Amino acid sequence: MSLCAECFNNGDHTGHDFNMFRSQAGGACDCGDSNVMRDSGFCRRHRLRTGENVPSIPRDLLLMSEMVLPRFILCIIQYLRDGYIEPAERDLQKVLQQLEPQITFLEELTKMGGAMRTVLTKILTNQQTYKELSMGKEDNLYAKKNYDKYLSALKNSDLVSVEEKNQSAAADIAVGAEGGAGAMVLLGTEDQDGGQSVGQRKRVKLSSSTKDPYIIDSLKHKCFLEELLFWTIKFEFPQKMVTFLLNMLPDQDYKITFTKTFVQHYAFIMKTLMKSHESDTMSNRIVHISVQLFSNEELARHMTEECQLLDIMVTVLLYMMESCLIKSELQGLWLFKQSCVRLQSLRDCLV
Ligand SMILES: [Zn+2]
Ligand SMILES: [Zn+2]
Repeated sequence: MSLCAECFNNGDHTGHDFNMFRSQAGGACDCGDSNVMRDSGFCRRHRLRTGENVPSIPRDLLLMSEMVLPRFILCIIQYLRDGYIEPAERDLQKVLQQLEPQITFLEELTKMGGAMRTVLTKILTNQQTYKELSMGKEDNLYAKKNYDKYLSALKNSDLVSVEEKNQSAAADIAVGAEGGAGAMVLLGTEDQDGGQSVGQRKRVKLSSSTKDPYIIDSLKHKCFLEELLFWTIKFEFPQKMVTFLLNMLPDQDYKITFTKTFVQHYAFIMKTLMKSHESDTMSNRIVHISVQLFSNEELARHMTEECQLLDIMVTVLLYMMESCLIKSELQGLWLFKQSCVRLQSLRDCLV
């Protein structure tokens, strides 16, 4: 649970036992969210606000933001696409530095209150806007070039672009019955046949011959938020960006979409983490986000039921453990293998 200083100081903590540590990375205050804490623990301000007497905002006031912000976010996306170089040289920091004023501006917007966060949420999650703006029009060479860069960034991350995936999907599904590597399109279940995944997952074997049997190898970005998270991961969780993404959490619609997106990218996060030179910093930030999202019981359950959260987590853990197996004749290896097998059976139980 996370509380801002203001809410903490305005709350009644008589009889509470607590441990406090200060977050360096910002985040969203959980006060007022009865999924995370009991109503009696809310601060004075949030206890009063639970009524429905919050005045609504005149529409004209937000019109300008609704018109301009999609373009603004598109600019940021374009810049991230353009700025990413493979293999990840440390120039990434330079790219991010130049983007800092823009991200700071977004962060400022999130602090303006619920109405502005709602506008941002609508833009970030709108599939139509993303579809229209993100591909780059024929006559815009810069945008076209950046879109190609985005596709190759997906490819270089061992991910397959949606277009290619669709082409090979039919073949994959046919092969998939035999547990063929890479046949799982976990994230595409809406677009694929939803029933296929369950049967396939149980057939996955823990063996080095199928290096990447189940781990998500396909990502489909359908809105700005999803691509923004993708670049946040690619750029190894820049602090400013994380703060912005977390500051948006008080918006309930955003919270759900963001959590889904986070779960959707979970395996990709793991892959990036394993390659990172600064895995300590990066894992700290990942933990920070996870704590914010999954201290909400209802949300965590929702993700478990709808997005195979547990399944993904255990699979990712298994994959990471498997990758650090060392060839040895000693019994220790056997034990380690045993624990991998246990993990695997745990995962099978979850399915
Ligand atoms: Zn607060
Ligand atoms: Zn409060």
